Formats: sequence, structure tokens, C-alpha cells
Amino acid sequence: MHPRSPYAEYTDFAQLAEGYPSLAKHLVNNSINFKDPDAVRELTKCLLKRDFGLTVDLPEDRLCPTVPNRLNYVLWMQDLIDSTSGGPTDDYDPGRKVVGLDIGTGASCIYPLLACASRPGWHMYGSDIDAASLRAARSNTALNADLIGGRITVLESTPDGPLFPPDIETLDFTMCNPPFYGSAADHAASAAAKALPPSSACTGSAAEMVYAGGGEVGFVARIIEESWNRGGDTTWYSSMVGKLASLAPLVESVRARTGNYAVTEFRQGATRRWGLAWCWGGLRPRGVGGVRGVGAPFPTVVAVGGRGSVGRVVGVVEGLGVGWVGDGGKEGGPVEGEGDRVVGRGEARGDVWSRKARRRKGRGEMEVEGGEVKMGFRVEVVGGEVVVRWTRGTDQVLFESFCGMLRRCVKEAPQAA
Ligand code: SAH
Repeated sequence: MHPRSPYAEYTDFAQLAEGYPSLAKHLVNNSINFKDPDAVRELTKCLLKRDFGLTVDLPEDRLCPTVPNRLNYVLWMQDLIDSTSGGPTDDYDPGRKVVGLDIGTGASCIYPLLACASRPGWHMYGSDIDAASLRAARSNTALNADLIGGRITVLESTPDGPLFPPDIETLDFTMCNPPFYGSAADHAASAAAKALPPSSACTGSAAEMVYAGGGEVGFVARIIEESWNRGGDTTWYSSMVGKLASLAPLVESVRARTGNYAVTEFRQGATRRWGLAWCWGGLRPRGVGGVRGVGAPFPTVVAVGGRGSVGRVVGVVEGLGVGWVGDGGKEGGPVEGEGDRVVGRGEARGDVWSRKARRRKGRGEMEVEGGEVKMGFRVEVVGGEVVVRWTRGTDQVLFESFCGMLRRCVKEAPQAA
């Protein structure tokens, strides 16, 4: 469960049904029967209404999404986007316009609806190839025009056409709940294992759930490939996967090209899903996560020691000729915050702190000013603990070396009185 999710691990159906007679009639012993498609659809509609003010129609022959589980993914995207704005903090900026794409939005159009209902500055495209789903998704968007305004656009894709509609120029992020299965037989076997009717609301129809080009691994591999060709230094591409075994090979194919990615586990009740997100540019998110058995991204938040005072750390950094940047162009020093938490932002054009670099500088061989910024960082002193937050750049060795230098400085500095 995501920390900002309003949902407990399991929904209190009795409480929810109090306000929704349409759900109350499906209650059996204060729970609902997840094998009953009508009950599952009613639950989704009630949660979307109660918690997001959304009105949604769900066709009987299309996948019915579970809300808490879908919300976890949307909240994770919010975290990634908030912490890669390039701004002075990792916090939500309500004034920022953000544009996202949901590949395979389905009949419910659930991801665009949740994303736009919870963030007034967000705009979403939702694509699909299935005519019935596209119709339903457009109708669900129209049903919520009051809340969503014109912020959702539903687009038709074709099975062999591009996954990123070429007309969309700017994208801050993309998300996807891919067709899980490689064949109709896999799909049927999975439904049978869960003792569900072959195409129930919970498992979706074969048209939605099967990708003959290799199931979810094949589909997400295609997203990775097409995203590489599309480029976009600031776009966060992502997908959910339904099987842990799918995650490792996909992470490997991202890692072959960049270390700038994040992984997570979405857990809701007994259901586990996984998320993978990557960016071909250098904007580093705050939480990169980690999933056991899967190659972990390099952390972007590193504690370097517990005895630093911000003044000393700032002095050390400045003494080395690493530049500090003011807050949004404001004059007046790099350090902001009060009391327990103080933050300084800075950027480096290269290694100017190692012994080798200082020797070169001593011989007048090093150009410190000018050149491209190689690394952006914040130094945060929280309750005396010095933490480095890597905000920008792709050079892991440079960042590690910077952390090592600060770690030594913090350790060597005399204990504050
Ligand atoms: N996002 C919805 C539906 C996910 S099911 C949810 O989370 O509930 C996967 C969806 O991907 C289906 O609606 C299917 O029609 C769609 N799809 C399959 N291939 C696609 C493609 N090439 N481009 C866009 N959508 C596709």
C-alpha cells in the first residue's frame, strides 16, 4: 500500500455499503464474492464515487479494475514526477502542468481518471486498440467532464502501430497495465486456476488480456524499445507487471542502457504487482525502490554521516569550487530551511574534490568554471544528519565520489560543541 493511499489493506465493505445500497445487496457476511462479476463492478463504481467523485460505467464483457491496486500505481507516478521536476524540492507543485499517457487504458479509463481526479494540473492521454474499450473509455471521460474538464484525451492505436502516438509531443510520463498473457490458453488456464468463469470481470476478455508477442514481458520490452527510439530526456516511462518473474529480464534490458530507473512492489491485501519506471535522461527521482532478486538501482538519497552542521558542509563544498545554485534565481545564498532541516542545492561540472583533481588544480591545469553541469545535488541536514540527494546526472562514479568526499569531511570535522 502506498503511504498516501486512503485504503486499508482490505476494504471495509460493510462501512462502504452503508452509503451505497447498490453494493449492500451484494454483501455476504460483510464481504463480497470476488468471483461474482456484478459484485466486483459495483465495488469499483462505489469506491470511485466515494473517494474520487468519479462516475464510471463498466461494460460487462471488459476488465473491471480494482481501485486500491490501480491507485497505488498512480501514487507512485506522482512521487516520481514530483521528485524529478528539476525544482528545489521533491514536493508536489500544484502549479505544474504534467502530461501523461496510459498505454492500453481499457474500458474504464481508470488510470487517466484517477490521475486527473487527484491532480488538477495533470492532463492524460489514454490509448487502446479495442473498439468497445475505446467507446467506453470516451463515455467515462464524458461522464466526468465536470471534474476532469478537457484534461483526458482517448486515442485509438493499432496493434502493429506505434505505442506512443506520434502526435503527442511532450510527455512527462507514461504508464501501462499490459496484456498479461502470451496466449488465449494461458489466459484460460489462469482463470481456471482462480476458479473464475473464462472471461469474468476480474480477468478481462482475451482481446484485452492477450499479447501474442510474448505476453507482458514481450509487451513491456516493446515499450522499452519504442521509448528508446522516442527519447525524451525528461520523460518517465513505466509499466506495471503482474508476475515477479517478468520484472528481472525487463530491468536488465533497461539497465543495459541506463542506471536511471526505479522499481517497486505494489501490495494490496493478498495481491502483489510490480512497477518499473525509467528515464533516458538524468533527472533522478527520490525513491528508487528495490525488489528482492532484481537488480537494484543506485540509491539517490545517501546518508553521509551524523555529525555535520550545515555551515561546515556548505563551507567544504564551497571551498572545493562546487557551485551552489540559488532558489529559483533568487539571490541570497544556497541554504534554506529552518531549525531541524536545512537544505542547500548545488551542481558540479565535474570532479573538483578528489586529491587528483586538487593536484591538477594546484598546477593550474583544471578549468573549474564553465562547461556542462554533470551532477545536481542537494545537501540536506536533518536533525544533524547529513544526507546527499542526487537530483541530476547519469555519472554514478562521480556521485559516489562526491558522497565519499563529504563522508570524510563530516567524519574529520571536529564534533560540534
Ligand atoms: N488500463 C486498464 C486496462 C488494462 S488491460 C486497467 O488497468 O484496467 C490491457 C489493455 O491494453 C487492453 O484494454 C488492451 O485492449 C490494450 N492494448 C493491447 N495492445 C495495445 C496496443 N498495442 N496499444 C494500446 N493498447 C493496447
